[in-house]
Amino acid sequence: KLYNQVQDLKGSIRVYCRVRPFFPGQPNQLSTVENIEDGTLTVHIPSKNGKGRKSFNFNKVFGPSASQAEVFLDMQPLIRSVLDGFNVCIFAYGQTGSGKTYTMTGPKEITEKSQGVNYRALKIRSSSNKGLSVPDASLVHVSSTLDVIELMSLGQRNRAVGATALNDRSSRSHSCLTVHVQGRDLTSGTVLRGCMHLVDLAGSERVDKSEATGDRLKEAQHINKSLSALGDVIASLAQKNSHVPYRNSKLTQLLQDSLGGQAKTLMFVHISPESEAIGETLSTLKFAERVA
Ligand code: ADP
Ligand code: MG
Repeated sequence: KLYNQVQDLKGSIRVYCRVRPFFPGQPNQLSTVENIEDGTLTVHIPSKNGKGRKSFNFNKVFGPSASQAEVFLDMQPLIRSVLDGFNVCIFAYGQTGSGKTYTMTGPKEITEKSQGVNYRALKIRSSSNKGLSVPDASLVHVSSTLDVIELMSLGQRNRAVGATALNDRSSRSHSCLTVHVQGRDLTSGTVLRGCMHLVDLAGSERVDKSEATGDRLKEAQHINKSLSALGDVIASLAQKNSHVPYRNSKLTQLLQDSLGGQAKTLMFVHISPESEAIGETLSTLKFAERVA
């Protein structure tokens, strides 16, 4: 069954959605989410008569009570296909505070139960050196999962994090963990090479020009541009367009070999449950709709 699932994913683009729970101690609030059923998420849109709602379809929707293990279990066949020589990209998209880092890495203090995808995906024995063309990126030989975890925390510390009105842990940079896997098919002896990119994207929120100025504004506009370039690439792959605009951003140039062709992409969008986040939530859901 697992094998069939893997086959189904060949060369595909899937779009998942996860809704963050309310924070503990947060006073009872109206949730944006009205209903989650199979792959459909229905959100409540405040309107004058209070009855606005809209539904969005996904390959999978995880509600606020979904556990990290549950989420990972669903992603496992996709991640395993790296061992069969496929290239895989997993993107976490959403506004700051919507739970991207929680899904990909975990909460601030990570326990075994709360470990995110990065930890669960990396059962690694060995890796070989390959060229890499990103300034300031380094390729490091790892021989154990612990090596990878240490590298990830180094990456987290190096990541540009700035205080914004929204969230002081707001990420204004994309974070990408790439794992090259090389394996040998034991029956045929063929060497298989696969590559997996786990990308925790910068916050997708639109900048408020009244709050951000100068470099901060430029940076935010740059982030929005690279996210929309990513959306353009995935949307044109989904529509099987002959021209795919990889060259419009560094991010898509970097991941070009792992987007399209036989590669598998998972766009995992995250939304906040608070009704005051509805504007960003709708723009996230529209982004998801476009790339599906
Ligand atoms: P982002 O990376 O999108 O800015 P975070 O992953 O940092 O957002 O999430 C914001 C806060 O919400 C963090 O404190 C995080 O631990 C918590 N959180 C996010 N998603 C969940 C979840 N599914 N369950 C429990 N807590 C979550
Ligand atoms: Mg984050």
